This record gives sequence, C-alpha cells and structure tokens, in this order.
Amino acid sequence: MSTVAAPRIAVLGFSIECNKFAPPATKAHFIARTYLEGEAILEEARRPTPTMLPETPGFVAAMDATGPWTPVGIALAMSEPNGPVEHGFFEELLETIERRLKAALPVDGVYFCAHGAAITTEEDDPEGVLFERIRDIVGPDVPVVATFDLHANVSDRMVDTIDAFIGYRTNPHLDMRERGQEAAAALRELLAGAKTERVRLRLPIVPPTVTLLTAAGPYAEMIELGQRKITPAIMNVSVMGGFAYADTAKNGLSVIVTARSDRAAAASLATEIAQYGWDNRARFYPTLTSLDEAVGKALAAGRDPSLPALAFADVADNPGGGGRGNTMFLLRAFAEAGVKGALFGIIYDPPLAAEAHRHGLHYHFDAHFNRDETTKFSEPWSAPARVAALHDGDCVGRRGIYAGTRLALGPCAALAIGGITVVVVSHRVQCADPIFFEMMGLEIGKARAVAVKSRGHFRGGFDEFFGPDQIVEVDLPGLTSPMLNRFEWTRLPRPVVPLDDGVEFKPPPL
Ligand SMILES: [Zn+2]
Repeated sequence: MSTVAAPRIAVLGFSIECNKFAPPATKAHFIARTYLEGEAILEEARRPTPTMLPETPGFVAAMDATGPWTPVGIALAMSEPNGPVEHGFFEELLETIERRLKAALPVDGVYFCAHGAAITTEEDDPEGVLFERIRDIVGPDVPVVATFDLHANVSDRMVDTIDAFIGYRTNPHLDMRERGQEAAAALRELLAGAKTERVRLRLPIVPPTVTLLTAAGPYAEMIELGQRKITPAIMNVSVMGGFAYADTAKNGLSVIVTARSDRAAAASLATEIAQYGWDNRARFYPTLTSLDEAVGKALAAGRDPSLPALAFADVADNPGGGGRGNTMFLLRAFAEAGVKGALFGIIYDPPLAAEAHRHGLHYHFDAHFNRDETTKFSEPWSAPARVAALHDGDCVGRRGIYAGTRLALGPCAALAIGGITVVVVSHRVQCADPIFFEMMGLEIGKARAVAVKSRGHFRGGFDEFFGPDQIVEVDLPGLTSPMLNRFEWTRLPRPVVPLDDGVEFKPPPL
C-alpha cells in the first residue's frame, strides 16, 4: 500500500450524541453547526477557527505534516447533542456519502470522524450502518480509521468494519485534536502495510454521566490502566463510557483494543481493564446535591465574601446531552430565595432573546421564559427583568471543549433579575466556555455563584475560576438527569448497573 506517492484519503464524518427522550434532530440542526460536502471539508478544517470539533482539523494537520497525501472530502455532518436524528436525513446523508465515495474511487484510505452515540428515529446503530456501507464500497483491503467521542455506545459492527478504533481519553473532552492526530499516525502506519485486529469487551454497566470524569474516579483509573499497560503490540486502547440516554442494546461501558499483532495480548489487556471496572462497579452511582441545599449554599456565598465562590451545575438539563437548556427549576429557586451576586447561563430561549433586543439596553420588562417551549420539563416562568447587555452571539470559544471553535449563539441578552444576571441565547449550546458570559461584559471572577447548564464540560472551561471543591452538581428534573431510575428505558441491556440488583459479569473468552 505504501507504494502510492500521495495516497488518496477519503475524509468524512457523522457526529452527534442522541438522547432518545429529546425531540428529533433535523438536517437544519446539522446545517446550523457543521454540514459540509467535498473540498469544503478540507477548507474548513484548515481554517484557524473552524466550526467543526477539532478531530478532523487535527487529522488533516497531522496528515499535512507527515508527507504527501491527496485528501478527498466526502461529507461531514456534525451537530450539537440532540434527540434522535430524523431517519430521512440520515438516509439522505448515507446516499450522499455513497455517491461521493464511489465517485472518489480508487481511494487508499478512509478517515471517519464519528461520535458513536447517534441514533436515528428508526436505527439504533447508524455508525455501524455507515461503516458497513463504507467497507462495502472501498473493499476489505483499504484501511479505515475512525475517531470516537468517549460517550460512544459501541456495537460489534462498529469495531469489526474498521481497522483502528480511536476514542477520546479525556472528559471534559480536551484531547479531540490529539486523537485526530493519532488517527493520522495510525492511517500512515496502515498505509505502510500494517494490519490490525480489534477486541471489544462490554460491561453490564451503564454509567451515569457524572461518574465518567477522567480527573479522578473509577473511569479515570480504567483509562489510566489501559495507557499504562500499552505495549508495542498494541496500537490503541479506548475505554468508552457510553451515553445512557441513547437507550440502545449496545449501551454499556466498553473496552476496545486495537492490536498491531498479538491478539492474545490485546484480549488479555481488554479483560484486565474490564475486570477492574467491574470490581469498582459500586463507584458508578451518582451523588448529587439537593435543590434546597444548593440554594442554601448560593445564599451563603452571596452573603459572606469570605466563603469561596461556587459553580452550580444543572447536570439534568445539559444541552451537551440533548437537554433543552431551558428548565427553570434552579433559576426560579435562586430568584425566589433572593440569591445575590450570581450569574446564570446559558438559557436557550430565542423569543425572549429577540424581545430583549427589540426593547434595547436598560429596558425594564417582565421576562417570560419558555413561552412556547414544550418539553415537560420546560415550564413557563416570568420575572421582572432589566436588559443588562446585548450581543449578536458570534464568538470563538476561549477555553475547554470549544477553545478555538467558531460558534454562533444567535441574538443573546443578559437579563438582570434581582441579584442574578441571566444570559439568554438563541442557539442551543451547553455552557462550557466562560466566553458566553465574558462576551456579555460579565465578570465571572467577581460573581459569588455561577450556575451553568452543563453536565461536566464546563469544568474544562471554568477551571480558572472554580476548583473541583467549588463545584456543586444539583439534583433536578430533566432530560439528562444522572438518576437513571427516573427514565423509562426500552432498549438498554438488562440487568445492568446501576439500575438493577443481582447483575453478574464473567469476561467471555476473546
Ligand atoms: Zn462526549
């Protein structure tokens, strides 16, 4: 394979995390974030501040740096986490990929930017469908390398149809670019003639999102174990936490080892990591702070400047997990209790942001939240407010998962409601970057309490202001509550930790 002077590499992707319980994602949601075909993928990937997440830019930069190649852009569809993808759009994308990939033949390799936790309104394993179709088109000998989000739900088909499986290793996801670079290194090696084998082991554990941090905890230890035990025989070890709310039969904490040689070593390492996770299963249960206790902490921080400032995470309404970013439980409780010196963001409410823009700066009015949002958690609420700041919502992420990424939040407004300043936006994004407050002229360092609609990615953006001891994860209702027993599951493998008693695990022979 290495005989090709400038190998033709197909570059494509489909990346979304889908919450079965949220309203469907349409083509418009992809277009609003990243939907590109052909050469435009490469042009965007090489821009200093691309709209796409950094795996593809990292892959392209590393390929550019490591020798000649001929990239062939196929299609790249990427969206904020949402509900299931409308199946009609998925079929349209599949058809586009087939048509463009066939037209691009012959290719010498394929890079696919995946998430791994997509579902459609009719298909629970869309990545598996895509990979199988790609494999059918390029044939058995052309290397296919794919990158995955750490929340991927992994099917056998996803592992069997590709040559190298490369998953993020950090949560918050701060290694996306590095994993793209790793994919380029893997592809270069495969182009030079290397062959791989993959082994996969899935545990009967569907970890609540808040238990999947990688700074510390059982999941961090599994990842660390995999990296520590890597040998020259092993190309990659990926420990995928999965995404519970996709509610599929393929859910479950999974270990995927891509071996250069020595399948037995890969199987033994996968088994050791999985066994470690199983032995620590009691640590995959969430502990959250009640709303009453959270309000008490916010009031105390506002009253007493000698106390540390606190960050309150509304983990149950995380747009980064398909939440709408508009539930009122925490804001209402803070406002009614008279919390002072607080920032609150970011609330997805386009009509309210538009109204604030119509009124103009310093206007006083009754802010009506959720006047036409319809999920059962998105209740209407109103309060007297003053327009404290306005912005067009165009920004570049400063820190954490969005660092260097170009974002359009649409018309934004900061509303002063009592002692709380609330940032309202028109495009649904999780509050993972301080820029969303800073662009409104708000100073996080001066706030006594900062409430964020985010499960965990805010940790990578707000770590300048809040250490782990200053973070309060609040137990509230919502589409992304870590309390998994509050959902009606239909597809999750059962019995499973943490939902059931008497779960057993015996590693199968690999
Ligand atoms: Zn993720």
